[in-house]
Amino acid sequence: MSPETPFDLSYPELEQLLREWGEPAYRARQLWAWLWRRLVTDYAEMTDLPKGLRARLSQELPLRLPRPGALQLDAEEGTEKVLLHLTDGEAIEAVLMREGERRTVCVSTQVGCPVGCVFCAAGRMGYRRDLAPEEIAAQVLHSARRLREAGERVTHVVVMGMGEPLLNYEATLRAIRNLNHPQGFGLGARRFTVSTVGVVPGILRLAEEGLQVNLAISLHAPDDALREELVPLVKRWPIREVLEAAEAYVAATGRRVTYEYVLLSGVNDSPAQARALARLLSGRLAHVNLIPFNPAPELPFRRPPEARVEVFRRELLRRGVDVTVRRSRGVRIQAGCGQLRARHLGGSRV
Ligand code: SAH
Ligand code: SF4
Repeated sequence: MSPETPFDLSYPELEQLLREWGEPAYRARQLWAWLWRRLVTDYAEMTDLPKGLRARLSQELPLRLPRPGALQLDAEEGTEKVLLHLTDGEAIEAVLMREGERRTVCVSTQVGCPVGCVFCAAGRMGYRRDLAPEEIAAQVLHSARRLREAGERVTHVVVMGMGEPLLNYEATLRAIRNLNHPQGFGLGARRFTVSTVGVVPGILRLAEEGLQVNLAISLHAPDDALREELVPLVKRWPIREVLEAAEAYVAATGRRVTYEYVLLSGVNDSPAQARALARLLSGRLAHVNLIPFNPAPELPFRRPPEARVEVFRRELLRRGVDVTVRRSRGVRIQAGCGQLRARHLGGSRV
């Protein structure tokens, strides 16, 4: 998408551009403070920048922030979902979760998703396009504006919305770097979690970035045959290779890897499957996050009964595998894991 917006540029790139325009060195810092700290949405508000520069910026680096639309709120839980309209007519959903002191934003990286997991609404809607770095970062900035009204801040970012982040690698990393940069949004690298379906080259590349972001890998099955049924696009990356890439990530970053496992009743939730999963993971610096399936109208699966989830969890624990059950937030407003979609395309409520 062109022209670029200022959110798409890294700090050094912005410094370089402003230098080429003949601006003093401190302009980049000023501009970034307005964008990432004071969270303004219009160059007109940047009162300490000369008028001429503001005019040139609006011409050559227009601010094209997504326009917030319908907001759905689960007040009891403190979770809200906002529809963000992109400039080309597409839309994405960003979710803000409040839990104790944590204020977590769940961001999308693509419109739809090319991976096509059979239990995920984004996967079912198909792939429409990648998001630009600005569109990824804007989801966090929008939530930051909401929280500011209450004197609060974003404390965590999980890249677990629509789309597969490691299939939109460049844009995702650009957004994370700017959100992490001390002159940018300034959120510590360890506050980010990137969730991937197991794109091996992407995991290996991420390991080399020198960034201590948390990595979560969606496994969903203890064997390749079942995994390929549930996650069609990952045939190229067998479980063995995914685990090897995860080891490389642990070695490079010292961070423990999380394995996500959506529990689908009668499909992948048997005690024998739990034992097979334990065999795969025992002895690794790993943590399993079990996610009981969240329903959506178009998805033909059921959530296992509570007792069955508990048996699965115990089978792992007994074999020394660290495990937690994720209580998805926002399920009542269709904002839980796997429930996000571009609603106006799905034809349901807007
Ligand atoms: N594409 C990435 C990140 C987005 S999905 C990935 O797949 O990891 C984030 C998490 O939500 C994944 O672990 C995914 O498996 C899970 N998820 C998808 N659909 C779900 C559903 N219907 N119920 C519960 N979790 C789901
Ligand atoms: Fe894509 Fe993740 Fe959904 Fe699979 S679970 S379709 S990878 S968003």
